[in-house]
Amino acid sequence: MSGIVCFTFDDCDVKGWTAAIPLFEKYRAHALFSFSGVITEEVIGCMKALSAAGHSLGLHSIHHANAPEYMEEHGVQAYYDQEVAPQLDVCLAAGIKPGSFAFPNNRFNDAALELLSPTFHHFRAGCGTMGGDAMFMKMKDLTPQCRVMRGGGLGEYYHTKTEDVLAAIDRAADQDECLTFFSHGISEGAKGVNMPLALLTAALEHAKKRGCRMIGFDELPK
Ligand SMILES: [Zn+2]
Repeated sequence: MSGIVCFTFDDCDVKGWTAAIPLFEKYRAHALFSFSGVITEEVIGCMKALSAAGHSLGLHSIHHANAPEYMEEHGVQAYYDQEVAPQLDVCLAAGIKPGSFAFPNNRFNDAALELLSPTFHHFRAGCGTMGGDAMFMKMKDLTPQCRVMRGGGLGEYYHTKTEDVLAAIDRAADQDECLTFFSHGISEGAKGVNMPLALLTAALEHAKKRGCRMIGFDELPK
């Protein structure tokens, strides 16, 4: 019994994510990084560095639009054509194939899943703030058919307390469950929806101490 912890990060913090690579390495941890916005050369460079360090890559759409509302307004295929394909095409041209998709604002529905399932093996959604059962998954349920991982948000905006994060890691370790977290930029003194380095370090240290595997979504059963 030791559990799994999936740390996931969204949006596009090229500087903070690149700078955090040695920290993850120190704790033998891999994570999922999902990029929103136009995929520039700088982003490709960051993706390659993360990938070389064993991390998993995801996309997070061009304009961070809520998938259900966008599809309602513009049509289902338009979400793929306008929000996903422009990112994916640039990645593929650079020899990168992001395997996961983080739903903007954690909003999704069956139509969005059906649309994107042929392209991505896993999806990151959320379960609001910390706590609750939705961010834990029993190992027996962690099968290739399990495509959506719901994360608990980490950061000031989510009213995260370090002791709650450590307690969640303890539960994953004790009950051999897979725990998913999400946050965004990584920096010292990060505010809002972003991940303070001290909190990330405490979580990584605790998960390592408890013997949890820390993996990106590419390492989930598929
Ligand atoms: Zn986002």
